[in-house]
Amino acid sequence: MPDYIDLRSDTVTKPTPAMRKAMAEAEVGDDVFRDDPTVIALEERAAELTGKPAGLYVASGTMGNLVSHMAHVPRGGEIIAEAGTHVYQMEAGGYAVISGATVRTVSAEPSGIMPLDDVRAAIRPDDPHQPQTALVILENTHAPSMGQPLSAEYTSQLAAVAHEYDVPLHVDGARLWNAVVAQDTTAAALLEAADSATFCLSKGLSCPVGSVVVGSHEFINLARRARKLVGGGMRQVGVVAAPGLLALSDGPEGMIERLADDHVNARNLADGLAEMDGITELDPARVTTNYIVFGLRTGPGQDVLEARAAFMAETESRGLAYIAYPGGRVRALTHYGIEGDDIARALQITAEALAAAGLAAA
Ligand SMILES: *Cc1c(COP(=O)(O)O)cnc(C)c1O
Repeated sequence: MPDYIDLRSDTVTKPTPAMRKAMAEAEVGDDVFRDDPTVIALEERAAELTGKPAGLYVASGTMGNLVSHMAHVPRGGEIIAEAGTHVYQMEAGGYAVISGATVRTVSAEPSGIMPLDDVRAAIRPDDPHQPQTALVILENTHAPSMGQPLSAEYTSQLAAVAHEYDVPLHVDGARLWNAVVAQDTTAAALLEAADSATFCLSKGLSCPVGSVVVGSHEFINLARRARKLVGGGMRQVGVVAAPGLLALSDGPEGMIERLADDHVNARNLADGLAEMDGITELDPARVTTNYIVFGLRTGPGQDVLEARAAFMAETESRGLAYIAYPGGRVRALTHYGIEGDDIARALQITAEALAAAGLAAA
């Protein structure tokens, strides 16, 4: 279905024609033996862009976060993370199952930041009764606040709090490049104060597979061992890493700069949605990256989950997919492959679907 508009996630992107070609032509070797030149080039490019000494290619963002806390956190250690973040909510409890860690949560402000005083209060004293605080994780962009991009200044303030207690800071930058483009900054600036980070190649950058972990050589050695432990040592993996190298390039096939288009499309979509009868809880001024969440205004006696199911069935039958979001809400993400006319059509379909589902006047 070529003209199906899929706004469920920025993970639905498909590789560009140039990526397909790069995959076919990739020079490869056995990456567990460190013989894959494409992977090595990708890891070096990631390190260069993020201002860190070393990089490690991993199968997914989840694996990137997993090997990062495995490297940073001893068994019985505790991770401080924002309550809604991916590492806490969406990674199958890997911190507990594999790292043997607990998580202590801090809630975000609407801007997506964890208040520094709350983080400070969550750091444990050196008391044998208590778990030992071993890592702070920051998610940037912060998905639960509708993808707010967090600043280099905030990151360095947060790192200063953590470092005061000798605790490292890891940035889960699945959508790091969205934060970079939205703030017209660099990844190196955003991560300068962080000890390690992961970023995703397969979301906004449109690669088929993979994330990259970056940090010190010492940290990356530990993360590489952890990756092997969880079965993530892959062999001629340059075939799937090649698109990442292209996506991170400065050339015409680079995929970072174009994220600005996704942000414009998201804002235009949000502007149109916010005006519609039947849509609530959406402030378009807060849409500064590619992430939109909105509520549906139900009438008396109307069940919100049933109303949402009816609404989504109506959009889907017209060629538009949203995804259900907690709290009876609906989520939309823009990405490569979604153009300005798709946004116009998405708005038209949404208005029709609201009326058909009985959420707005026809
Ligand atoms: C998508 C995502 C991940 C995990 O990425 P996968 O490649 O799906 O495992 C981690 N953190 C955040 C914030 C994400 O959005």
